Amino acid sequence: MTSPGDARRQEIAANLAAVRERIETTCASVGRSPDEVTLVVVTKFFPASDVALLADLGVRHVGENRHQEAEAKVGRCTADGVRGLVWHFIGGLQSNKAAAVARYADVVESVDRVKLVRPLDRGAHERGRDLDVLLQVSLDPPGASQRNGAAAEDLPKLADAVLGAEGLRLRGVMAVAPLGRPALPAFERLTVLVASVRAGAPDADIVSAGMSGDFEDAIRCGATHVRIGSAILGNRPQIK
Ligand SMILES: *Cc1c(COP(=O)(O)O)cnc(C)c1O
Repeated sequence: MTSPGDARRQEIAANLAAVRERIETTCASVGRSPDEVTLVVVTKFFPASDVALLADLGVRHVGENRHQEAEAKVGRCTADGVRGLVWHFIGGLQSNKAAAVARYADVVESVDRVKLVRPLDRGAHERGRDLDVLLQVSLDPPGASQRNGAAAEDLPKLADAVLGAEGLRLRGVMAVAPLGRPALPAFERLTVLVASVRAGAPDADIVSAGMSGDFEDAIRCGATHVRIGSAILGNRPQIK
């Protein structure tokens, strides 16, 4: 007899294999090695039991976007003995929650304003370990509301603030494709922005771009990290 857990495991394993194959095919088509692309499985809205299954299936990197849910899930996984995971925080950050996020996250991908730097640095000090951070940059067209990250012209001062924080390591950039527009040209623009950040921070070699709907374009444009949720775990519940 198979239990519901077995069925879920098989579903996730099949989806994971399909996504990994698409990553490999895309890498091959542009002459990249699949080793250059890290898969971050986005587990928001899904239970800690799914995270445990993912870890068992060889996934190392997981992403969460809401502080309360993330904190509880990290705690649950730790209590259950699920080890070796790298937790990426990828959601919008309130400055009054930033220090708390820095206490459990391994990478904070969504640093989009200078105001977050001090509390993140404080949280990193409190836990006694440096925190990797990415600058989230908006790929919305100039003039549109820059909801999804820092405006490109604000990147240098944001990078300087992170570089000036002892407990933070500037590791690169993160972006979400603009809504309702082709992803490829936006991701191409991101590659140019990365180069400018990297000029002042040689360790900033991470380009986190691409989700379930557009990760192949992101890989074609040089993404080193793709953040994939629904293609692996299924559709999220609609209600927040
Ligand atoms: C939810 C989320 C993802 C994953 O989205 P899918 O379309 O489910 O793959 C990636 N990045 C960010 C910032 C997210 O919030």
